[in-house]
Amino acid sequence: MTTSAKLRRGDCPDFPAEKTRLSPSAADFPAGKTGLSPSVPDGYDVERIRGEFPIFRRPIRSRPLVYLDNAATSQKPQAVIDAVSRFYTTDCANIHRGVHLLAERATEAYEQARAKVRRLLGARRADEIVFVRGATEAINLVADSFGRRFQPGDEIVISALEHHSNIVPWQMLAERTGAVLRVVPVDERGEFLADEYRRLLGAKTRLVAVAHVSNALGTVLPLEEIIALAHGHDAPVLVDGAQAAPHLPVDVAALDCDFYAFSGHKIYGPTGIGVLYGKAALLESMPPYQTGGGMIRSVAFEKTTFAPVPCRFEAGTPDIAGAIGLAAAVDFVEEIGLEAIARHESRLLDYATERLSAIAGVRLIGTASRKASILSFVLDGVHPHDVGTILDAEGIATRTGHHCAQPLMDRFGVPATTRASLGLYNTRDEIDALAAGLEKVSEVLR
Ligand code: PMP
Repeated sequence: MTTSAKLRRGDCPDFPAEKTRLSPSAADFPAGKTGLSPSVPDGYDVERIRGEFPIFRRPIRSRPLVYLDNAATSQKPQAVIDAVSRFYTTDCANIHRGVHLLAERATEAYEQARAKVRRLLGARRADEIVFVRGATEAINLVADSFGRRFQPGDEIVISALEHHSNIVPWQMLAERTGAVLRVVPVDERGEFLADEYRRLLGAKTRLVAVAHVSNALGTVLPLEEIIALAHGHDAPVLVDGAQAAPHLPVDVAALDCDFYAFSGHKIYGPTGIGVLYGKAALLESMPPYQTGGGMIRSVAFEKTTFAPVPCRFEAGTPDIAGAIGLAAAVDFVEEIGLEAIARHESRLLDYATERLSAIAGVRLIGTASRKASILSFVLDGVHPHDVGTILDAEGIATRTGHHCAQPLMDRFGVPATTRASLGLYNTRDEIDALAAGLEKVSEVLR
């Protein structure tokens, strides 16, 4: 891992070593000695990758942590922790304003982060990348700003697979403008129904907003088809990529999507930073979302003019350290390679599907032909919260609940599921631990 090596504290001469010690108990589970499988056959060295994450050296409930809640947030590699620390230790200043050296350094690092995100997403231009707080803010930005042109009767098409973040902003927009929300249903496997989608598109469609990957079921949506059909009706497409960016290679230029949103914290970066990609011409045509410092060209009491994009959409002091941490996360995943990550996680998902399907009483919710990194299930006769609690006692972190996708839970007639969601550091042994934990839940509660 040369990336993290580059950012190690040894390179920061003034960095007080003691303060960078992450855990007094780090020695309890030294890297490579977790008892988990060393690597999968094609050279994807999962144990080496795990070693980059200090949290895995800490015992959880006196056991090695089995972290299967990556769809909620991911753990952070040392390179990201160090990048954030280093900004505050050696480079801290506000951006875009000062002429002093620290301001220059901070500005350069922030803009380099933008350039790295541009590369990650395959965007054509760096000014198509807007830093926001996360996927939620990105979608709200588009709903508020792009949505200001909506008229009564205009239609917004979403899918039944959406996270609340890609439902509620459109509902609110519909309430404000008289626009109408149209929802593409899913079948019993959790597949997006493309024929129904075709039927819902029309002359009134003003926007299509869909997930790339469903956070509750793992379904990968057929974006190429969705985007081509929407464009056939001159409707732009917003893609909620919160659950895709950490797991699949994304190329917004090849996809030809109009907006793409994701959150830094799910791709091994810090919380509080996220990205809205927008095609330059579209962003340029949109009014500001929030106003204040940093987003203006000139202000007079008579009239204010706005800065070009992306600054127009970054009012106030942004999360500078967050952007720098995100850049380190981008370096980290790119060094492993998103193709390799996708392959690793896909194999693990197949294995987990096989193992869990073999457990009596487990019913998988969401069995689409294309899935990424997420396994949702119910255990007959046991409430998901009880499943999660017993798994937690075994040191296994999963998520239980409606996963901010209540309409989707309703579609499947369940109030909640247990969700195991994978990341680049998960192993087959951890899936075995999950299966053993579920057998135990079954013994105790069924
Ligand atoms: N969309 C999807 C598909 C998600 O999974 C999430 C997070 N669970 C979000 C949007 C919202 O992300 P954030 O809370 O980071 O803004």
